Amino acid sequence: MSQHKDLVCLKPQEFVGFLKQNRIRKFFFVYDPDKGIVRSSHPQLQPIADFLLSDKRDFMQHEGLFFQITRNYGTLQGAFIHRTHRGQGSGGLRYWHYATVEDFLRDGLRLAKGMTFKNALAGLWWGGGKGIMVHNPAVELHEPNMRASLFQEFGEFVTSLRGCYITAEDVGTSVIDMANVFSKTRFITCIPYEFGGSGNPSVATAKGVVCGMEAALEFTGLGNLKGKTVAVQGVGHVATPLIEFLFEKNVDKVIAWDIDVQRVTRVKEQFAGKPFEASVISPDDVSIFQTDCDIFAPCATGAILNPQTISSLKAKIICGAANNQLEDDDRDDQSLHERGIVFVPDFLTNRMGIVHCANEQYGYVNHDYFIERHLSKDWEYSIYQTALKVLQASRETGDPPARTAIRMADELSLENHPIFGHRGQQIIASLVENRWHEQ
Ligand code: NAD
Repeated sequence: MSQHKDLVCLKPQEFVGFLKQNRIRKFFFVYDPDKGIVRSSHPQLQPIADFLLSDKRDFMQHEGLFFQITRNYGTLQGAFIHRTHRGQGSGGLRYWHYATVEDFLRDGLRLAKGMTFKNALAGLWWGGGKGIMVHNPAVELHEPNMRASLFQEFGEFVTSLRGCYITAEDVGTSVIDMANVFSKTRFITCIPYEFGGSGNPSVATAKGVVCGMEAALEFTGLGNLKGKTVAVQGVGHVATPLIEFLFEKNVDKVIAWDIDVQRVTRVKEQFAGKPFEASVISPDDVSIFQTDCDIFAPCATGAILNPQTISSLKAKIICGAANNQLEDDDRDDQSLHERGIVFVPDFLTNRMGIVHCANEQYGYVNHDYFIERHLSKDWEYSIYQTALKVLQASRETGDPPARTAIRMADELSLENHPIFGHRGQQIIASLVENRWHEQ
């Protein structure tokens, strides 16, 4: 096995042990675009730099990856900064379990890249980034003081990066965790109202999903939502207002499922008297994909579109809020396309989650134009117009929609910020020059 395989195959806590033995607490990998190489802060970690450079799927020339082990409890924390032409690398902090260092790295790389595309396609002046904190068996997850300490250290870490990465809430983190991060850094968005933030974006996200559905219906010549049957997977924070908006649009019927009994009971009460069915299912039950409907709306977890589910789908359109719906981006995008099912890429329809909080620092107005234009039918970059553009380009080129949307987003993500230019990369260069890893 090559040397880099040795390091990336370690369990995260074994890797932390290796770092401690080598007296490394902070380390980085940065891409040098002129030389086409990845530099490592420490010679002992060069094998990981080589691993990144040799990777053809996820690395995609990330501008900088920065890591630390926390002073308390030895937890591995990282910031993955993919591309910062349009602005600072922005994306939430995930707190998750990883079997190996490779799994951890790949998840961060993939998610940061996804944020670059989501932000660019939304026309936001943000780049793409992601924070990841690895679950550490030495830390009791629900012990508030331990947890607070970890998130405060993450806040200090983000501050030390001088703004090339902007964090937010994501899977595995809560409002309280974000309050702890916020106590140590200003480089954070999507904070609670009480701290001057924009609060929960779920209602706006649901409105965005409706726009994606309307564009897909228009594209397919099926008209509008009136009289349609919509199947919704998950009845959580986004799906519940989504169902309400669907009824406002006079859909014929909504069929929904969730694995959580209480949530199913709650929506049944909420939509009593409407043409609405909701049932509890087990997480591995794929029978819901065979439901007769016009639109299937994934609003639960990712990777639900795969060979098994795609072959049984009866819907004509897939459009929902869940992140990373395709299990394998290329394979599943292509097979939906071949089956003639219109897939509205998730990073396009669920953009309101980030749009809602992206410009928090500019304050709030009622009916904010900078938010509402994304939900309009006429703004060139609205969800509706972008979805139409993607689906039409897909039809013309024969490429499936997610690949088409990524190509458009990729191009947009290379546009420099109109005022600050490619400042994120300048910040990264300053960190390297100031030997960030030794401070
Ligand atoms: P949520 O946790 O409130 O709701 C998700 C629901 O899905 C839960 O009720 C859960 O029990 C259910 N669920 C989980 N696995 C399931 C399964 N196999 N089958 C059926 N139901 C299942 O989350 P949310 O905020 O409503 O977000 C839904 C999705 O949209 C997530 O993937 C999220 O990452 C994504 N998203 C949300 C926002 C937002 O503004 N909240 C923005 C962008 C993307």
